Amino acid sequence: MVMAPRHPSKREGGSHRIGAYRPPSAPRQPERVRIFLPSPRRPVDRPFSPSTPEIVAISPHADDAEYGAGCLLAAHAALGCRVTIVLMTGANETRVIEAKAAAAALGADLILDPSGSDGCLEITSDRISWLETQLAAASLVLAPHPDDTHQDHRATAGITATALRRSATALSWYRTPSSGPGFSPTAFFPILDEAAAVRGRAIDQHQTQAGRAYLRPEHLALKDSWFGWLGGHRAAEPFQVVRHQFGQLPRLANTDK
Ligand SMILES: [Zn+2]
Repeated sequence: MVMAPRHPSKREGGSHRIGAYRPPSAPRQPERVRIFLPSPRRPVDRPFSPSTPEIVAISPHADDAEYGAGCLLAAHAALGCRVTIVLMTGANETRVIEAKAAAAALGADLILDPSGSDGCLEITSDRISWLETQLAAASLVLAPHPDDTHQDHRATAGITATALRRSATALSWYRTPSSGPGFSPTAFFPILDEAAAVRGRAIDQHQTQAGRAYLRPEHLALKDSWFGWLGGHRAAEPFQVVRHQFGQLPRLANTDK
């Protein structure tokens, strides 16, 4: 007996991409991209690649990617990178509507797994294969750290790591409100006010989550400030690098200083 695939491909209509929001004042493809600055004294610049890099953030629930990587995603979307959020628990229609609005606010596409339910996301071979397909063109994948007290976050980390087990694609973990002590940041994305404002507008779309302490502006500002302190910036988003590709590193500028 031939089993029907549990996760239809994007071409078959199993995924839902929405149009990317483009801030009217932001150029779609600027000449240079500033990315992963190691310190304000040594900027790392690179010319914009003819093949647009794609950053994919895997989100267990509809607000996790915004919380953990929203500023990085917003900044790169505004610079012309293709940014995609993969929502693993796409069975909740209300949360999906909010996720679409939040992705649009960030300037990101949204793909969802309509079979994934909040609270009982499982690591299955079908789900791993489906995600592997979604990540085929990714330059950088971001997912929640495996050490997390929420079972859906742990499952998402396991699905992502397994989907990339045969891949050279760069992978970093981001932090969620329930990340455990195993999260040890090794990369810090400096946050500018514009990106923080866009993240705030994206988080505001999650109206069913309004009132959550970890989504309040004062919590986000403290988090940004603390990890900025650890990373040598005024404010920063923390990531733990699993795999980084030197071939994708930006060309170093001013290395004689
Ligand atoms: Zn979550």
